[in-house]
Amino acid sequence: MYNPNSKKAEEFICHEEILATLAYAEANKENKILISQLIEKAKERKGLTHREASVLLACQIPEKIQEIYDLAEQIKKDFYGNRIVMFAPLYLSNYCINGCVYCPYHLKNKHIVRKKLTQEEIVREVTALQDMGHKRLAIESGEDPVNNPIEYILECIQTIYSIHHKNGAIRRVNVNIAATTVENYRKLKDAGIGTYILFQETYHKESYEQLHPTGPKHNYAYHTEAMDRAMEGGIDDVGLGVLFGLERYRYEFTALLMHAEHLETVFGVGPHTISVPRLKRADDIDPDTFDNGIDDEAFAKICALIRISVPYTGMIISTRESKAVREKVIRLGVSQVSGASRTSVGGYAEEEPEDECSEQFDVSDKRTLDEVVRWLMELGYIPSFCTACYREGRTGDRFMSLCKAKQIQNCCQPNAIITLKEYLTDYASPETKKVGEQVIVNELKQISNEKVRQLCKEWLEKIENGKRDFRF
Ligand code: SAM
Repeated sequence: MYNPNSKKAEEFICHEEILATLAYAEANKENKILISQLIEKAKERKGLTHREASVLLACQIPEKIQEIYDLAEQIKKDFYGNRIVMFAPLYLSNYCINGCVYCPYHLKNKHIVRKKLTQEEIVREVTALQDMGHKRLAIESGEDPVNNPIEYILECIQTIYSIHHKNGAIRRVNVNIAATTVENYRKLKDAGIGTYILFQETYHKESYEQLHPTGPKHNYAYHTEAMDRAMEGGIDDVGLGVLFGLERYRYEFTALLMHAEHLETVFGVGPHTISVPRLKRADDIDPDTFDNGIDDEAFAKICALIRISVPYTGMIISTRESKAVREKVIRLGVSQVSGASRTSVGGYAEEEPEDECSEQFDVSDKRTLDEVVRWLMELGYIPSFCTACYREGRTGDRFMSLCKAKQIQNCCQPNAIITLKEYLTDYASPETKKVGEQVIVNELKQISNEKVRQLCKEWLEKIENGKRDFRF
């Protein structure tokens, strides 16, 4: 039954193969010889299979877990350096016809305020986001073919790209909307989107159907095969994710890696990113009513194992997580973080009154972008507002082959420096600017290619003189 090459959800995410994998992992969780061999294999930086990674997830031996953490940290440094890509979500509409029992947008929720941004409101939202310094957005919407048809989403994307307030610009729009048709994916591709993101929520078919009792999202196969359709529609950067807390995390972890293997097998390119959201309290949602919540330790282990299992895949952490958890998992492998996020529709331009809540869930990290940027720099990272790869056509397998040849370092590091300089010049507080200028001085020294370093210095000067948007 299990066939990573199949286009059928139940064959590439095969329940029996997951159960067999979990049994194998359980049987070997104290097999120190095998565990050491797997860690040695991961050190080759070519990833691990779902079976191999699942054994490491089951392993509870403290010194082996420490070895996994150390390796994840090292692989993170080797592939991503100290760059952390910054983004923000933009909620377009919370109209939704689905019945997802964990999401306050579900159709039966009659007390959440339903909102849908007009194009004028989008201008206000995007202006506010640009004024913070954001260059990269992930647009979010409920599923509602009448209120939020694909034409609405496309119009919003066009509006977002057209707004240039002061030195601001949104240079990459990633899209997180419900599973759709090949034709619609092609339209999104033509609209110039970056990554198409769709969380699987859970890979467990039976649970999936119970958690999505009504609406188009009820269809497990249609949802699970969405990335195949997105790829067929020409989108070669896709982002996977599981909503941790809904099902047993070991099941989800195994299936998530099977999904990545499927995309690699069929399309020759794995997922561009993996997101690791955890279930949060929301309008009429109490996360404690779900049985499968995971603690911070298990969460960190998942992040570290994703990092060593798919070293070339970016990993995203949202403001669902606290500052402390974010700090831990950034070290273990996360490469993209959101900052100053609002999960309400229209929340950037205006604070929502208490009685008009349209929020999707509570955020734990409520700091401003300036605070997040400074915090990252003080931890030794370089916050990057870079969007160059996608704008230079370095997507899908072209991005992956650059990454595999470790060439990304030669353009990503200088691009991070340049975009940080733009941020510091246009948006940072004096204190953040001071910290950032020192980071730039130190980072410039790390560029080994003399020509690249020289050009980078020239561009930094030009930014000081008012020019913008340089990239390698
Ligand atoms: N409506 C789209 C869909 O069906 O995939 C995607 C957009 S939705 C705004 C983005 C994600 O938020 C969902 O895929 C889900 O994983 C997550 N989400 C929903 N309710 C949540 C909650 N209570 N806590 C944390 N994340 C939640």
